[in-house]
Amino acid sequence: MPISSIVAIGDELVGGFTLDTNSHWMAERLRLLGYPLKRVTQIRDKPREIIDQVARELDDPDVTDVFLSGGLGPTPDDRTFAALAEALGKELIIWEETRARIERRVQRMHSMGLLESPELTEGNLRMARIPADPAHVFKNRRGMAPGAIYKAKGKRIFVMPGVPMEMKGIFTEEIEPEFLSAGSAATVRELRFTFAVEARFYPLMRELEESYPDVSVGSYPNFETKELVIRVLGGDPKRVEEALEVIRKRAPA
Ligand code: ATP
Repeated sequence: MPISSIVAIGDELVGGFTLDTNSHWMAERLRLLGYPLKRVTQIRDKPREIIDQVARELDDPDVTDVFLSGGLGPTPDDRTFAALAEALGKELIIWEETRARIERRVQRMHSMGLLESPELTEGNLRMARIPADPAHVFKNRRGMAPGAIYKAKGKRIFVMPGVPMEMKGIFTEEIEPEFLSAGSAATVRELRFTFAVEARFYPLMRELEESYPDVSVGSYPNFETKELVIRVLGGDPKRVEEALEVIRKRAPA
């Protein structure tokens, strides 16, 4: 059973400046693709903290796929690849294909009058510097930072830029079709009860927890619509349907 974990990297996330929409978006995609999440962690752009978090993910026996986003850019505060190299015990190398692509892009931007010089800057070059031995390097049609996949301790580590448009582009065009096509999505069903009191569902939910351990049942009150949403999720559609039927029959009035 594939189980994923997301690490969103950026001081701006942890500092409350930017909402971590990347993780929210990926959580849904991963669920729909059958690679559900165990957790999302937001961390700062501190090398030691990135290294420690990667080690934690690699030590978690449940997790099969780790998704890192952010910190691949051209500025000194973009440290994800350097920290990942240390976590994996790899050297940082210039990935020639990416360097050449960045060079072509810089030259194109120069010929359009958008850049003063056609030469690669240290910032440009930083983005082509990645840990050695990638299992795959992404193209990233929407930006310069490439993103890549590594394999360690039997897990795959997907590294993506933080810019939401670039992350989503790489995810849907390069990751989903080739690397996330073997999963089977969980069945999700919902029941809605208007003006229902959540606490009164407690005994029924406890009972379902015991008789349907393979199905997860959650209750989510919506204060705007005054509805209580009971969401049932599981790998076997028949079991989900059965649990749903128990709730339908026995829901407190
Ligand atoms: P680039 O190569 O374009 O610099 P990057 O990998 O360095 O990309 P960051 O520098 O971490 O990305 O972030 C770039 C932009 O994307 C910032 O505006 C940042 O706020 C935004 N961003 C980063 N991570 C997230 C996230 N998890 N959710 C939403 N926005 C994000």
